[in-house]
Amino acid sequence: MAALPFSDILLEGLAPDGGLTLPESFPHVDTQQLESWRALDYPGLAAEVLGLYIDDIPRAELSRLVRQVYRPDVFGAAEIVPLKPLNDGLTLLGLSQGPTLAFKDIAMQFLGHVFEYVLTQRNATLNILGATSGDTGSAAEYALRGKRGISVFMLSPYGRMSDFQRAQMYSLQDANIHNLALRGVFDECQDIVKKLSGDLDFKASHHLGAVNSINWARIAAQIVYYFWGWLRVTHGPGEQVSFAVPSGNFGNILSGHIARSMGLPVRRLVLATNENNVLEEFFRTGIYRPRSAEQTQATSSPSMDISRASNFERFVFDLVGQDSGKLRELWEQLGRRGEFDLSHMRPQFESRYGFVSGSSTHADRLRTIRSTYEATGVLIDPHTADGVKVAAHYVESGIPMLVLETALPAKFSKTIEEAIGVPAEPPAHLRSLASLAQRVEVMDCDAQQVRRYIEQHAA
Ligand SMILES: *Cc1c(COP(=O)(O)O)cnc(C)c1O
Repeated sequence: MAALPFSDILLEGLAPDGGLTLPESFPHVDTQQLESWRALDYPGLAAEVLGLYIDDIPRAELSRLVRQVYRPDVFGAAEIVPLKPLNDGLTLLGLSQGPTLAFKDIAMQFLGHVFEYVLTQRNATLNILGATSGDTGSAAEYALRGKRGISVFMLSPYGRMSDFQRAQMYSLQDANIHNLALRGVFDECQDIVKKLSGDLDFKASHHLGAVNSINWARIAAQIVYYFWGWLRVTHGPGEQVSFAVPSGNFGNILSGHIARSMGLPVRRLVLATNENNVLEEFFRTGIYRPRSAEQTQATSSPSMDISRASNFERFVFDLVGQDSGKLRELWEQLGRRGEFDLSHMRPQFESRYGFVSGSSTHADRLRTIRSTYEATGVLIDPHTADGVKVAAHYVESGIPMLVLETALPAKFSKTIEEAIGVPAEPPAHLRSLASLAQRVEVMDCDAQQVRRYIEQHAA
């Protein structure tokens, strides 16, 4: 297949069922170029790194665009991604300062601006249809609110989200954001999304799209903060840094793998899971064995409760020497037997790619949140606690270990209270959230009703 320009891949990545389009090879960043980036601020660095991939947006416009995305008033931090030192050689990479207090904002906010740019250029419109049980939906809504040419239709299960999540999503008053609360569970919302986007006539006539975690623009935007973290904790060329990443869908850590492939001196990529340890098991044994929905536990780090990792295929592609025939074979095996076995390659996971793994339990999370708080005064959320717990096992002297902070504790206050006896304070600008007026359309779990609503309100 011929290489596509970035904007085409961006729009193609909207296919609800596809979109695993990534570059086959990654540009190399040499020592001199890397060192020349030390003085840049976050948007300056984002323009450099994303500019290596974005071939059809002029550099001056890309620079302007990322300056609109990564603003201190949107991210609640002058540095956008601040570093927060902990004890024992660990440092948090503060990725969760954005509007929904989770790392997904970093990529989603970029996606929102770049969509608007490309759609304006093409004089096109787009209707994003999705289902959420909380996190991804709110990140998408905050990124796309008020954007020209785009409307968002987000289905959520009525009465089944936390008060904080409800207040966050339903208080948005932007005319292009439509929250549809359905009288049902998350899976039923998801089924309606599949049904409507599977109706190809409806999909085409209403320019329906999705914002998957396998969207290349999201993966690309995440590469930036691995470079940022490295530049902030090193002092000169070639110094190594390890990263620990709380993982579910393998999206975040895939960006770390790509940064390392581009030449960033990354020693280890520490993959942390909770009790749902499909990925931890793979890196420990070489066997990939996704679980069924029934085998997936509901844990206190809920955003990592996954049974199959949609971005994992891209890493396995590298592992098998970018042989797409071999990759297809493995996925056929997966379909037939429910697993595949790469245990003969296990030694390479670390020696060649830097990957190690570990998992944690609810008790580990509580203990880690408490001990980190007592030792440093820093309160971490349960997902970040999974990362801290596993990272501690792999710290080496003289090599900084950056733990990716994937959410702020205020989002998961119940677990915080369980760990330290008091709830987590929400950031100042969110304290009034609960008292804001909410706007939501409640309806039955009925695809016909959702379809009619979209027909009446589409962009
Ligand atoms: C999405 C999410 C994760 C998992 O990230 P992946 O890219 O899916 O591996 C971890 N923590 C939080 C808070 C999240 O929202």
